[in-house]
Amino acid sequence: MLQRSDDRLEMKWNSLGFLEPALTGLGDIDPDVVKYCPFNKTPDPEIETEDELSGIFLKDAPEFDNKLGRYFKNYIGYSNEFRESSSSGGLATSILNGLLIDGIVSGIFVVTEVDGSYGYQMMVDVEDITTISKTRYIPVTLVELFEKINEFEGAVAVTGVACFIKAIRIRKYYDPTLISKIPFLIGIICGGWKSRFFTDFLSVKTGIEAGYSHQDYRIKEGSLSAYNYSYGAFDKSDGEFKTIKMKELGDRWGTGLFKSPACDFCSDVMNELCDISWGDAWIAGYKEDNKGHSIAIVRTQKAMALIASLIAEGDLKLEDMTVEKMIESQSSSFYHRQDTLAFRVLPRKLFLIPSPPVRNRLKSNISPRFSLVQICRLVTRKSSLYYWKSTSGPEGYSEKMKLFLKLLFFTTKIYHKLRRFGL
Ligand SMILES: Cc1cc2nc3c(=O)[nH]c(=O)nc-3n(C[C@H](O)[C@H](O)[C@H](O)COP(=O)(O)OP(=O)(O)OC[C@H]3O[C@@H](n4cnc5c(N)ncnc54)[C@H](O)[C@@H]3O)c2cc1C
Repeated sequence: MLQRSDDRLEMKWNSLGFLEPALTGLGDIDPDVVKYCPFNKTPDPEIETEDELSGIFLKDAPEFDNKLGRYFKNYIGYSNEFRESSSSGGLATSILNGLLIDGIVSGIFVVTEVDGSYGYQMMVDVEDITTISKTRYIPVTLVELFEKINEFEGAVAVTGVACFIKAIRIRKYYDPTLISKIPFLIGIICGGWKSRFFTDFLSVKTGIEAGYSHQDYRIKEGSLSAYNYSYGAFDKSDGEFKTIKMKELGDRWGTGLFKSPACDFCSDVMNELCDISWGDAWIAGYKEDNKGHSIAIVRTQKAMALIASLIAEGDLKLEDMTVEKMIESQSSSFYHRQDTLAFRVLPRKLFLIPSPPVRNRLKSNISPRFSLVQICRLVTRKSSLYYWKSTSGPEGYSEKMKLFLKLLFFTTKIYHKLRRFGL
């Protein structure tokens, strides 16, 4: 996140396929810029973690859960109008459509197509609403939001993963004029921010050898379960749309392949700082249906009112959902991001390397058997980025990664076995 007072900073692709701020002029970075970063290692105590920020911005929410954060109500369901053209249940598109139609905002800042790839753009026209649907797992930057927000007439809603939403809340804390300018935040439940290499890898696996464009990361497949989706993209060399079933590529999420190192220090699984969090319903009874179900955590009164009107108008079909089921839907993410965070921070502490603050309730230690899984996962993540950069072609890459993936699979299996026997 950039503070625009330091105009020498620019978002650039780094060597590992992530967008990051780079200094284009001489001298040191303005130290104040860092206070806007969601991974700031020395934040002001009033906004130290998600808990303090939610205490400021979501204090009216009547419920609190250690894992879900502050909220009014939890739902599961889908949008009648947008489910088919969306990645999952179409809840996000329905909410954004409702925000524009009801005039709650004049613009939505969302990730849409830009020159065949994807980036954040301001959209104002409800006629174009379905072009905003679909998940994009390629790095994007929010920087234009803060460059354009003051020129834009009216209020804006923004979609984003947890660290982006946290960055916006931090900006609002230091600049309260943004509170009315950005009155609505729609938070994606995120299991990890992927490098651009992830998209390169998927595209190569479809058979694309040169460039690709218009990637579709979530193509719903026939009548199979929600897990059975495909990836596809246009091959620039022959104009053909080529696809691959994701299940042929093995586990791309639990293994942490191509994931940003910053994600290892994020404990916000459910996007705790937005008005509505939404994600996929990875819950028995729903995940079997490939048409897609979304889950939603509603955190503010205005979001409750919008959901009520979308239900009344007949677009949203939602059921209430228990806290336990919501947690179950993201159980692996909780294991990794919350239950083992202390282990990842420990070596940094020992070597006096600063890390972002950890919430008190997540500071407990983890068992030695799970530590081994953590070490394997860390090495696998790092290697996936390094080897994609340094080996030519997917075969060389897969060969290099084989050992790391085998070790990770083996240690995880042992861990689960020991856990089952209560060891
Ligand atoms: C990096 C990433 C990781 C994710 N991890 C998980 C997870 O662990 N668990 C889970 O349940 N769900 C996860 N999701 C969300 C999930 O993949 C689907 O995006 C979501 O459930 C689709 O819901 P929908 O059908 O309501 O969305 P749609 O109606 O298809 O709309 C998608 C909306 O998301 C916006 N959008 C797409 N990509 C981005 C992006 N990168 N940044 C900001 N806005 C974007 C679009 O502009 C659009 O408004 C993740 C999404 C991303 C981008």
